[in-house]
Amino acid sequence: MNISHIEHIGIAVNNLEESIKYYEEILGLKCYSIEEVKEQKVKTAFFMVGQTKLELLETTDKEGPIGKFIEKKGEGIHHLAFAVKGLENVLQEVANKGVQLIDKTPRKGAEGLDIAFLHPKSTKGVLTELCENKNI
Ligand code: ZN
Repeated sequence: MNISHIEHIGIAVNNLEESIKYYEEILGLKCYSIEEVKEQKVKTAFFMVGQTKLELLETTDKEGPIGKFIEKKGEGIHHLAFAVKGLENVLQEVANKGVQLIDKTPRKGAEGLDIAFLHPKSTKGVLTELCENKNI
């Protein structure tokens, strides 16, 4: 696999609006996009930090993946996303190495990226997302 950089860090929050305030007023970052990803039952807010983004995630449904995460663990870092090229091949490659995949084939994530998640059981406890931006 050829990882070019950390694409983003996903952070689960209780309240998107309050959290944006923290990142803007205390950390001095600028939210450049708010997007709802219906399929994942989340509202997201993005910040750029160098070439890495922060993705804040607020659930729109208690039963959604972020809703369940918050209920179990509370707010905090949810996942780490690496930028790769040739996502389909990469998924095949890691599956062949015994890594458990959450997404067997790429799907559409926020910002029009192709994404797929690896199971934290196979990644030393870190929910790992691989993404490919085919628009660049
Ligand atoms: Zn993500």
